[in-house]
Amino acid sequence: MSNLVLTAPLKGWIAPLDETPDAVFAERMLGDGLAIDPLDSTLHAPCDAVVTTVHRARHAVTLRAANGAEILMHVGLETVALNGEGFSVFVKEGQTVKAGDRLLGFDLDLLAQKARSLITPVVVTNLDAFEIIRRDQDRELGVGDFLMELSRIGGAEMAGSTAEGEIGRAVVVPLAHGIHARPAARIAETARKFVAEIALAAVNRRASAKSPVGVMSLAIRHGDTIQVVASGVDAEAAIAAISELIEGGMGEGAPVAVQALAVTVEPPAPAELPRDGVLKGVLAAPGLAIGKAVRLASADIVVREEGQGVAHEEAALLAAIEIVRQRIERNAAKGDKARKAILGAHLAFLEDPELAAGARRLIGEGKSAGFAWRKAVGGYVEALRGLGDRRLAERVDDLVDLERQVLRALTGEEDEGAALPPGSILLADELLPSQLMGVDPAAVAGFATARGGPTSHVAILAAAMGIPALVAVGGALLKVKDGATLILDADSGTLRVAPDAPALEAAQTALAQRQQRKAAAQAAAHDPCVTKDGVRIEVFANTGSIGDALAAVTNGAEGSGLLRTEFLFLDRETPPDEDEQARQYQAIASALDGKPLIIRTLDVGGDKAAPYLPIPAEENPALGLRGVRVSLWRPHLLKTQLRAILRVKPLGQCKIMVPMVASLDELRAVRAMLEEVKREMGIVERVELGVMIETPAAAVTADLIAAEADFLSIGTNDLTQYVLAMDRGNPELAARIDALHPAVLRMIDQTCKGAARHHRWVGVCGGLASDLAATPILLGLGVTELSCTASITPEVKARVRSLSLDACRDLAARALDQTSPEAVRALSKSFGA
Ligand code: PEP
Ligand code: MG
Repeated sequence: MSNLVLTAPLKGWIAPLDETPDAVFAERMLGDGLAIDPLDSTLHAPCDAVVTTVHRARHAVTLRAANGAEILMHVGLETVALNGEGFSVFVKEGQTVKAGDRLLGFDLDLLAQKARSLITPVVVTNLDAFEIIRRDQDRELGVGDFLMELSRIGGAEMAGSTAEGEIGRAVVVPLAHGIHARPAARIAETARKFVAEIALAAVNRRASAKSPVGVMSLAIRHGDTIQVVASGVDAEAAIAAISELIEGGMGEGAPVAVQALAVTVEPPAPAELPRDGVLKGVLAAPGLAIGKAVRLASADIVVREEGQGVAHEEAALLAAIEIVRQRIERNAAKGDKARKAILGAHLAFLEDPELAAGARRLIGEGKSAGFAWRKAVGGYVEALRGLGDRRLAERVDDLVDLERQVLRALTGEEDEGAALPPGSILLADELLPSQLMGVDPAAVAGFATARGGPTSHVAILAAAMGIPALVAVGGALLKVKDGATLILDADSGTLRVAPDAPALEAAQTALAQRQQRKAAAQAAAHDPCVTKDGVRIEVFANTGSIGDALAAVTNGAEGSGLLRTEFLFLDRETPPDEDEQARQYQAIASALDGKPLIIRTLDVGGDKAAPYLPIPAEENPALGLRGVRVSLWRPHLLKTQLRAILRVKPLGQCKIMVPMVASLDELRAVRAMLEEVKREMGIVERVELGVMIETPAAAVTADLIAAEADFLSIGTNDLTQYVLAMDRGNPELAARIDALHPAVLRMIDQTCKGAARHHRWVGVCGGLASDLAATPILLGLGVTELSCTASITPEVKARVRSLSLDACRDLAARALDQTSPEAVRALSKSFGA
């Protein structure tokens, strides 16, 4: 196949891509080519081609030439933000154009005012198949002048490909959150099963489908049309597999409103310490700590730019990656679930072929392994930070973490923070997951970071390690001196620097009381649980695995008031069959030693996606198909689950509970199916069927529901979300979505009154059951069962034993009349047992 000549699509000055003030282009993440500083306002076709995509913001066009070369032309930088203003389009997707045909027109003056730059990159995006063998430079060109010449790598067509070298299919992305980290990893996993070169092309970007980082940085959003393209022997099968995977929605079919960037990703502005020495941050992991400030400065790792030979540098990089890989695997083997998941993501990034290829390319240009790795990772970091997407921006930490780990392995430097004095409160601009995993947890009393978000991996780790933590404290944090005394009260979102004697004393007393209370509660964990005036209250623990059931028993829980069965259904391609479910439920029931087990039927949908359930796209997934609505939409799933639950021996140990009920009809439908299954299985004994009160509708009609339900259990997490109309997953609202809001308490009150009319018991299995400030109020409202987190069970039991019901009733009545959750908390604080 002969070479392809591209002519200038635009009158203007030609410059090398390196001079483009945008890392995505300058680092050739999208491909190689040239940049043009325009002197005219019409973009023309640089060769005969087919228009593959026209960006909906009309600022970028991709063409495919007859030999398969893909050429992206992107008018100006960050012009996507103009949303088409000042642009006109002269072609349609799929249209054939001749060299010199008009593609786009644009208003040069408007762009000069509103865009970051007019520089227009013209790049060949499939560099795996083409290389630029000749290009013009640094002079003014007119439309149609020679720009560059391409040649197919290897000079021949790839086996099995079409005459154009590459075949492709347009796919509309139905995934609610677009293609973020998890779908990107699954796409890469599928792509790697094929020998074909496979790429995803979004309008102005392209990445190998085998690279999770590359795919993620395409920032593909819900509703985008992308191209799945491939070349090679099994290209067709590869395209079919990847397209179907994406079109199937990967269980993430419902769109949500794009969230504003909630994580602090900009370097914090320098700020002074406030006069009172109290800094405010966002809760990442609860608790109170007193300690000394230890600044983790994350000293810059210096790398040489020049390499010492390609072979030497490539070997050094490979060896360093291997050291890090082995360390991650070792860490994952001894870690808990949260740690394993985080390290799994790190491994996927580390094994990303695009990162390695990017680094090798730079090594090939004479750079050192460290320089090349830093640049390769840095390009993606920039791209992810620039996307304005909270979840992707939080993954930046993971990439920066890998960058540092590999650089440290290359330089042989030890990780900082390895030897810390006891009682250290770590302060950092940002803390990386590996830094936290690398410290001695016995020495760390807490940590605070200037940047970061509450859903970052490091926040999840802190919670799992029981380390109180605050994030997003701001630039003033960096002014705190090493060794300063600190009080970190994560629950109230404050960090007090150099407290005066009374404040320190008060914190020490509070901490000592907490520790004593904890120790005493632990010692009495297995004692019976009755109030001072002799009322029996059941304190259960929530479970989601056999491990949780064992932890529940160890901590003195009297049963499990909520088994979240989703653990069996998520992160897999097909649902578990009846046998598998029955085995798992039996194992958990047995681990509970015959104590009661309330099994909740499947609660997927909303934020919990199952790949095999093609839930149609929804505007508001939290208000869409989830919980019992999914079970009734796919009744065979419910039937299988009910059969599996009924196989658990002894029969009476398990009760069944239905999530997200909004009306009595739903309970009736589940009851009808339960009766049918019992008939089929020849079971005549009574099996209790309860309802979770999670919607305002269920709470206000609790009297109607309780007439037919055997018990009610309040899911305060969802109930609060729906009563307050605040997304439970939105970190911006995290501080305000408090289940002790009087509106939520009034719903609980109504639930208890409705249930009492039919002599049904009411439990709480949402987060409020684990909140010691809520215990007397819930008891006062009429709740008689609390199902909490296993680790806090002893303290909840101790709290119950310290209460008398009459006083609780009085407190509850006053709580209902407060005007804010803060007022309710203050009231509870002042309440004597
Ligand atoms: C709840 O909503 O309070 C609850 C217990 O269910 P989940 O947190 O699993 O949605
Ligand atoms: Mg819920």
